[in-house]
Amino acid sequence: VRQSPVYKRILLKLSGEVLSGETEHLDLEVARKIAYQIAEIYSLGVDIAIVIGGGNIWRGSMASHSEFLDRSTADYMGMLATIINGLALQGALEHLGIPTRVQTAIEVKNVAEPFIRRRAIRHLEKKRIVIFVAGTGNPFFSTDTAAALRASEIEAQVILKATKVEGVYDSDPKINPQAKRYEQLTYLDAIQNRLTIMDSTAFSLCMDNRIPIIVFDMFKPGNLKAVVCGAPVGTLVSD
Ligand code: UDP
Repeated sequence: VRQSPVYKRILLKLSGEVLSGETEHLDLEVARKIAYQIAEIYSLGVDIAIVIGGGNIWRGSMASHSEFLDRSTADYMGMLATIINGLALQGALEHLGIPTRVQTAIEVKNVAEPFIRRRAIRHLEKKRIVIFVAGTGNPFFSTDTAAALRASEIEAQVILKATKVEGVYDSDPKINPQAKRYEQLTYLDAIQNRLTIMDSTAFSLCMDNRIPIIVFDMFKPGNLKAVVCGAPVGTLVSD
């Protein structure tokens, strides 16, 4: 098994759901396990930037259940939720002795530094993990779009999209036991077969900027390292 990384700089997209446990919205034991997996690739010398979601705590679309919350406000609440997750992950990583910085797209100067592209790159060069929170800072967007945007800005070679399934399937593997996992897809295959890998804004940004996406299961121990070392794990989407 190959033990050297095939990427120099990656952007890891963790959805909020990845941080939720069986009962809790934000499960610190889960955060600890994720931090272990990240530590494995950190020790390979890869530059690591992370975009974290907030769906485990709050999603903008939940506003549709309310008669007084408008969508923008609900989206700002969602962005704040990502800051909470980001701080939890920072704690878990630093507990393992890994230096990190949290950069936020919405100013919260007592808890995190503002997003400054050149400073983020400097942190990566100094081998600090940069955790980007508050999405793009704009309502009506998603943290997947933030991942595509930040990956472009820091010139990451790939977006690793962590999920709870092995990759992209031709049908829902929870419903159809015969569902087949794609090892590789082009952006156009994904569009033509209506495979939702990210929302359309995020996906277009990846396609236009030719950023490959690897969808993989973050919950299999060693999987993140395998992906980073080029093993055929998950589904690769590229042109
Ligand atoms: N959000 C937003 N703009 C952004 C990123 C996120 O308004 O640039 C809001 C949106 O309401 C979203 C919530 O934050 O539902 C949580 O983010 P997301 O749903 O992307 O998290 P994930 O699904 O990755 O957990």
